[in-house]
Amino acid sequence: MKKKEICSYCGDEYLPTRRGAQKFCSNSCRSLNWRKKKGIGQLIKDVPGPKSEVPQNNKIPNPPERMSLAGVGNAATGVAVAEVAKRLLTAEENRPATKKDIQELKALLKSRYLLIRNLKRDNMGRNPYYDVLTGNLVYL
Ligand SMILES: [Zn+2]
Repeated sequence: MKKKEICSYCGDEYLPTRRGAQKFCSNSCRSLNWRKKKGIGQLIKDVPGPKSEVPQNNKIPNPPERMSLAGVGNAATGVAVAEVAKRLLTAEENRPATKKDIQELKALLKSRYLLIRNLKRDNMGRNPYYDVLTGNLVYL
């Protein structure tokens, strides 16, 4: 004759397979009860899961803007102008400047805008110039 018993963990009725030696309806309840007694179950339950800090939107930042063709031309022109000025000024310091040197230098200093010959006109038909004061490429 079999007598139903009450599970010590979940409270369900169950038929013990071994009399007197069993307090739980299943191995699962026995295990859970053991954990509860040791405080492990409580610990696991109360500790919040680690919150994911990995951003969902894993966008790669945009690469730096590529130097425009106009920018390259502008920089090259600036270097060229600087070289001319350096050559002329150096020449003037080290030896008596020739009339041609003075004229070139005067022309260089007098005109703020130097025509850039290796660039095409813009869509409004204006010529590209190197602005000596700002170092910018301008269309006039
Ligand atoms: Zn149970």
